[in-house]
Amino acid sequence: MLPITYAPLTLELRTTFRIAHGASDQRHNVLVRIAEGVGEAAAVAYHGETPAGIMAYLAAVGALQGDDPCLLEELLAQLPPGSQAARAGVDIALHDLWGQRLGQPLYRLLGLDPARIPLTSFTIAMDTPEAMAERAREAGLPLLKIKVGSEEDAARLAAIRQATAARLRLDANAGWSREQAEAWLPRLADFGIELLEQPLPVGDLEGLRRLRALKTGVPIFADESVKTARDVAAHAGAVDGVVIKLMKTGGIREALRAIHTARAHDMQVMLSCMVESSVGVTAAAHLAPLCDAVDLDGPLLVKNDPFEGLRYEGARLLLPDRPGIGVVARHQAV
Ligand code: MG
Repeated sequence: MLPITYAPLTLELRTTFRIAHGASDQRHNVLVRIAEGVGEAAAVAYHGETPAGIMAYLAAVGALQGDDPCLLEELLAQLPPGSQAARAGVDIALHDLWGQRLGQPLYRLLGLDPARIPLTSFTIAMDTPEAMAERAREAGLPLLKIKVGSEEDAARLAAIRQATAARLRLDANAGWSREQAEAWLPRLADFGIELLEQPLPVGDLEGLRRLRALKTGVPIFADESVKTARDVAAHAGAVDGVVIKLMKTGGIREALRAIHTARAHDMQVMLSCMVESSVGVTAAAHLAPLCDAVDLDGPLLVKNDPFEGLRYEGARLLLPDRPGIGVVARHQAV
């Protein structure tokens, strides 16, 4: 038997994180452990997830029946439907345990080359145009993801474009109407925007198809609309790419299925994260060699990351070569 243990993990953010869904200074995640394996579940409010709900799910499952972490599929098949974040926490801890028992980093077990990881973007959350431009300048990084989705978007983009020569991606977090998106798309090239994420509310597949038919040359990616491999297939033809996150797929196993489903439909793949510590984000980074675009800046947004794992050299991601996901606690107490 492999018992599952868990504890709340409160992350303090470096700056208030404001996107089209709301603003926050703290995130309440849950740390999951299975023997020496560690995982993380991020309570994303707009997924309807709460730390209490995640912990209730983990308490109800209690333990996985079996002793061999190499039987990943058998063990994970025991998880009932419910909290995707909790399922992700268990899945990550189990993959970590698998790698540790076999003495290999996860990327090696998956057959992947960490030298193929694309540069990560760094997120500039919504704020006044001046404050966003300042943060873009201060970041000094070559690839930024700009959060938009309100009246001031034009002023924001103009200020940021003036402040930096960085490559820019845009994330509207479902904050635009069809009319706003149709008006915006042809203008994005003027600001040098290379990619647009989730312009429309979840479920508006027809709206996405219409935007894509405008053929503005700016690829459109679905994020909030797409959680699992099944959703990826449903978006074939409606978008150019999909955003995969472990907290949406319910872990690494389903993320792999979602990535391969996207490939089968000629869609691009961006790998991203929620606000997570080095546990969740390092776990995701092991899949990054399979992806076209990477947005794994979670630990850079957090002041009190209790773990170290993934390292950043500017926008370049360096995976640890320790066994499993390769994270270690900064303090003994964690
Ligand atoms: Mg997004």
